[in-house]
Amino acid sequence: MLVAGNWKMNKTPSEAVAFVKELIPLLAGAKSEVVVGAPFVALPGVVDALRGTNIKVAAQNMHYEAKGAYTGEVAADMLKDIGVEYVIIGHSERRQYFAETDVTVNKKVHAAVGAGLIPIVCVGESLEEREQGVTAEIVRRQAKIALIGVDRALLLSSKLVVAYEPIWAIGTGKTATNEQADEVCRIIRGLLVELYDADAAAKVDILYGGSVTAANAKELFAMPDVNGGLVGGASLKAADFKVIANA
Ligand code: PEP
Repeated sequence: MLVAGNWKMNKTPSEAVAFVKELIPLLAGAKSEVVVGAPFVALPGVVDALRGTNIKVAAQNMHYEAKGAYTGEVAADMLKDIGVEYVIIGHSERRQYFAETDVTVNKKVHAAVGAGLIPIVCVGESLEEREQGVTAEIVRRQAKIALIGVDRALLLSSKLVVAYEPIWAIGTGKTATNEQADEVCRIIRGLLVELYDADAAAKVDILYGGSVTAANAKELFAMPDVNGGLVGGASLKAADFKVIANA
């Protein structure tokens, strides 16, 4: 069970450090693994503040090339070097506003894994796609392309996480029902069985994300194929995040 917070473009570096200092005692006995996804400039301070605690740190994005003329970009090795352990890849906001595609997501997965980072690969359908009845096809396609060339050993060692995040549920306050979340997480698990096998598929945490709150997390996370959550808005409130991490 894993609960990852995605702060998006919120908190200055000093606010971020103050916030994680507040989180440390609240989450010390958390039932799940806990990760916080901070903006790039806040990462060094957050990693330092969390050293020796049970809270791990994620970046929210990275570039797929190792280095070079990519002004403004950050490479996987740079994140690894400062002590980041996870990286969110292919978040729908990256796909929507920054032209990420299934192919760049796949390249980023390889770059992350090559640097020893654990990718949290995001997939999810739009409202239009759900209404068209193509959710399964969209999510399977996104996940299948993201995983091209990824070794079974990586899954077996639980070094890859998938997050199902229906776009219509992100930041909208409109959460998927427990059954909708579980159904699509099960479709993703089924794809992993097809692509690898049942043992590998069982080792992957498949998270649900989209308006997870302190009030709905417990029921969502109790669904058989939901192994935790990727949490945006509610991860910015320490008390709420504590409840979610213990759900
Ligand atoms: C997210 O950013 O991944 C997310 C799920 O946001 P929210 O929880 O605010 O819907």
